[in-house]
Amino acid sequence: MNPVDYALRGQVAVLTLNNPPVNGLGHALRTGILAGLDKAMADDAVKAIVVTGGEQVFSGGADVKEFGTPKSGMAPNLPDVIRALEGAEKPVVAAMAGHALGGGLELAMGCHFRVAKTDATFGLPEVKLGLLPGATGTQRLPRAIGLEPALNMIVSGNPQKAATFVGTALVDELVDDKVVDAAVAFAENLVAEQRPIRRIRDLKVNAPDADAFLQFARNSVKVASKGMPGPMACVESVADSVKLPFDEGCKRERTAFLSLMQTPESRALRHIFAAERAAGKLPDIPADTPIRDIQKVGVVGAGTMGGGITMNFLNIGIPVVLLETAQEALDRGLGTIRKNYENSAKKGKLTQEQVEERMGLITPTLSYDAFKEVDLVIEAVFEKMEVKEAVFTKLDEVCKPGCILASNTSYLDVNKIASFTKRPEDVIGLHFFSPANVMRLLEIVRGEKTAKDVLATAMKLGKKIKKVAVVSGVCDGFIGNRMLALYGAAAYGLVLAGASPQQIDKALETFGFAMGPYRVGDLAGLDIGWATRKRKAEEAGKPFEPIIADKLCEMGRFGQKTGAGWYRYEAGVRKPIVDPVTTELIDAFRKEKGITPRKISDEEVIERCAYALVNEGAKILEEGIAARASDIDLVYLNGYGFPARRGGPMRYAEEVGLPNVVRALRRFAAEPGAAPTWEPAPLLVKLAEEGKGF
Ligand code: NAD
Repeated sequence: MNPVDYALRGQVAVLTLNNPPVNGLGHALRTGILAGLDKAMADDAVKAIVVTGGEQVFSGGADVKEFGTPKSGMAPNLPDVIRALEGAEKPVVAAMAGHALGGGLELAMGCHFRVAKTDATFGLPEVKLGLLPGATGTQRLPRAIGLEPALNMIVSGNPQKAATFVGTALVDELVDDKVVDAAVAFAENLVAEQRPIRRIRDLKVNAPDADAFLQFARNSVKVASKGMPGPMACVESVADSVKLPFDEGCKRERTAFLSLMQTPESRALRHIFAAERAAGKLPDIPADTPIRDIQKVGVVGAGTMGGGITMNFLNIGIPVVLLETAQEALDRGLGTIRKNYENSAKKGKLTQEQVEERMGLITPTLSYDAFKEVDLVIEAVFEKMEVKEAVFTKLDEVCKPGCILASNTSYLDVNKIASFTKRPEDVIGLHFFSPANVMRLLEIVRGEKTAKDVLATAMKLGKKIKKVAVVSGVCDGFIGNRMLALYGAAAYGLVLAGASPQQIDKALETFGFAMGPYRVGDLAGLDIGWATRKRKAEEAGKPFEPIIADKLCEMGRFGQKTGAGWYRYEAGVRKPIVDPVTTELIDAFRKEKGITPRKISDEEVIERCAYALVNEGAKILEEGIAARASDIDLVYLNGYGFPARRGGPMRYAEEVGLPNVVRALRRFAAEPGAAPTWEPAPLLVKLAEEGKGF
């Protein structure tokens, strides 16, 4: 297969990019475009050139398969190719369908004219990887469509429909179909009319009130970008397009691009991009593993989770049978789902018809008989093994053979749940996060006996409902909640040792978490943990020894919902207010335990909380609960608010240096009375000693 097909259509040479699936601009393609261009230029019979990806896709930009390989930087690079196309003395027309993203759009802007199909979308998404468009996009786009729209597009990274650009130099003609034919006809016309070549580099940027607009952009981007250097670099580079000659602007763009590539923020975002691509792959589940057809879903329990889970399927047109134990609970669940959709309608995200359509896909029921036809059931009932047993025994009786039986349990043993059925191979954990209709994470829990096609189906389904799906083995709390327990313990240890909840929250928020652990506790409600700890003590036959959070609960302080928890809240305001009552309670508790508080630095707060996650993550990796460190990062990024610019806990540890993490853990473990969990994981020690990363 030629990376670039060359065909003659009368006096027009058509260069068709040919690198499925999205015409990534890898080395072979770049070389092929130049070869095609040279051939066309050398042929006197050729009067014009069309560059296209065909009728499906123009180009998705850089070739991700080449990322990190020598080929990605090998000449000719993309700016070389673009310069050659633009410099051609025969007119070059881009014929664009589907995506033209990143380098793909930059390539098209190197052509002299552009014909686009109505389905085409244009975008420069580099900022989403902490970068700026590095192949002259920041200098060309403002010249093609004007300063303000170009800046908005580059700083947001969001793609736009081709039709948006009709009337600008970015789209010369928009067609409904057969874009290559249209581009050839367009090129023939150019030749017949002897229209002069138009190069974007020669256009002047349309920028009324440029200074005022740029100042406004700088101010707003500075606030919105929260310490990420990419967006501000985009603004400055676009500003150069107004102030500087084209070549100088391009030079500065390249320098800024190369320097952004070296930032930890961009490294983190590129790591996440690669992690998401890797997460769908498991060594023992080949890509051609058969998939079970999921046409209809059952959900057991219409509470907090059941309702949100249901919405995921309604949103993609899959009907859901929703089961409850009592009519009242069913009505409440349906009411919540409707309210969520009505809210989206109020915001203009859904039409009223769409709301009714989605609600119409639910079959509410109090009887298991309604599950006879479903292809997948997800159980979201109370977190008690006896209740799970009752539900799965019943599901095993009524569901048809081949139906996948899933549990949304947060902590319970999925193997045990599977053992309640005569078909453990059909049982799997599908652990959604609250609110399940919003949160992107889905932990897919693979039981000992889970069949490969069940796992493959769950992963495919995860993608369909637009989740980041990560596979976890069975253990207490799976990947995320197991790590969360250690993070919580580290934060609590800091309070006992002398830090205040507000110091801890602030330090972790400055690190990049949306909310520190004590604010999260108040938001989620402290009573849940209180009840669990009391139950566990009772089950273990031990006296209940309240910790500080329990003492808050004993005072009726359950968090935001009761107006006070770790903090105090004024009616209707979410902002936490530091409360002397809590401070006194903590002081008294420390005294009771004979602890003399010490001064704790913000660095120590971050070290303890982040390294607690890293250490447990390393154990999870070592035990094979997670297939790769980047899966653990995805869990923490998408389910627990770990800051994206740090790339996830495991990536962050690599950025800090694993030997540094091990040294700190050893220091914590050596303190008198330290929890044994501070002992560094053997895998972490081994990798640190070998100078390796995860
Ligand atoms: P919830 O109390 O809000 O809802 C549970 C619902 O199940 C209730 O409406 C109840 O009437 C119904 N129910 C109970 N027994 C039933 C039965 N035998 N048959 C049918 N319906 C029954 O609880 P939730 O927060 O939605 O949690 C449900 C499950 O999801 C639990 O296993 C929990 O650990 C897990 N989970 C919860 C969260 C969360 O943040 N709330 C997150 C992830 C997972």
